[in-house]
Amino acid sequence: MFHAEFKSISGKDAYPLSQIVYRGSDGSLLEVCHDRSAWKSRSPDEWKILFGGRRTSFAPADLSGVWSKRELVLPELPVEDIVTLQEGWTPLFNAQKLAKEINIKSLRVKLCGNSHTGSFKDLGMTVLVSQVNHLIKKNISIKAVACASTGDTSAALSAYCAKAGIPSIVFLPAGKISVAQLVQPISNGSIVLALDTDFDGCMSIVQEVTADKNIYLANSMNSLRIEGQKTISYELCQELGWRLPDTLIIPGGNLGNVSALAKGIDDLLSLGLIDKKPRIIVAQAEKANPFYLAYKRNFDKLEPVQAQKTLASAIQIGNPVSYPKAELAIKNYNGIVEQVSEQELSDAAHRADKIGLYCCPHTGTALGALFKLKEKGSISSDESVVVISTAHGLKFSEFKAAYHEQKLDNISAKYANAIHHLPAKASAVMDVLKEVV
Ligand SMILES: *Cc1c(COP(=O)(O)O)cnc(C)c1O
Repeated sequence: MFHAEFKSISGKDAYPLSQIVYRGSDGSLLEVCHDRSAWKSRSPDEWKILFGGRRTSFAPADLSGVWSKRELVLPELPVEDIVTLQEGWTPLFNAQKLAKEINIKSLRVKLCGNSHTGSFKDLGMTVLVSQVNHLIKKNISIKAVACASTGDTSAALSAYCAKAGIPSIVFLPAGKISVAQLVQPISNGSIVLALDTDFDGCMSIVQEVTADKNIYLANSMNSLRIEGQKTISYELCQELGWRLPDTLIIPGGNLGNVSALAKGIDDLLSLGLIDKKPRIIVAQAEKANPFYLAYKRNFDKLEPVQAQKTLASAIQIGNPVSYPKAELAIKNYNGIVEQVSEQELSDAAHRADKIGLYCCPHTGTALGALFKLKEKGSISSDESVVVISTAHGLKFSEFKAAYHEQKLDNISAKYANAIHHLPAKASAVMDVLKEVV
């Protein structure tokens, strides 16, 4: 009884989900459009009971944060075609100490990087690869799935395709991603293409290559991924007792994830599961800030920039594909776009680590925006805030080690914790401990 199809955001075109199509006839982005009126066949309380019940089930689909909401994701996909790595249901870290330090009501950090491949990209990739798996089972010819990536998308694509037994091809900007991110698709058996360009360059080449429909495009322009990523909003709402915080802060690069966050909230409002809109804040690195600049110009239009090298490598993007959806997200949710310097994002990540987090630079970008906006008075003391952490810090060991060694270019690491190098003598150790404990 539940149904979804692709619609172009310009409203002109509609296509069945079984069709291989990424844009409307006028070039506009597509979105998976659900028959929301059918959702009304269940009351808000019935939805809560259904989702609450699945939280105690061990059925493979129920164990996934994404597929436990399957009626709202891909309602017509047969459960046996799902390719899952138990994505979702990630920890919600209570950062009360930090909230107290900066004087806000509460701060939680949603650790989306505590996931199979170490980033939130798993949430979208399970949906995309499941749909591809379904199409292949229906004898639609797909030889491989391809993506351009700043690292995490290719890691996720590679793992889900390997699980499903589907070939994958990843296009990476040579020398611009972390070692951990590079090793992941190599290990999972992808065809790995390192190109002498940046992410935006890889993106335009992969789009040309996937014009051949035998090679399926897995970038976030593919709106199937948004359907998985939007479940971040459902999950947060469910774990906060069917409430959302006043403010959500998310780092943005290609701007798919903020679009997903907003779509999830649209759904919750439409289901009657919440009635109050939270505010969405997008954080960008100063070195790759086209969305921030557009926001400052009242969203007159997107002016692509040449993204500069930033420690937040996964958001080093100058021409964000999902710009139109992200603009709507900011407008609908009373949003703000903030930018932070390399110094600010590095310090913010490591300040948060001091209370037990282990932040990647993108999470540092979001936290840096929080600190900055609180200082400016754009976030007030009575606000509850959730920061979306997008990747696991372990993927960015080079960044974190260099920070503590004071080896990051032009950065004076305020929260560095230097190692004590000592001779192997108890007396030397005791001398130091007298000073520091
Ligand atoms: C992909 C990614 C982002 C950016 O998400 P967009 O949807 O491109 O805005 C942020 N952080 C990490 C770690 C990522 O992998």
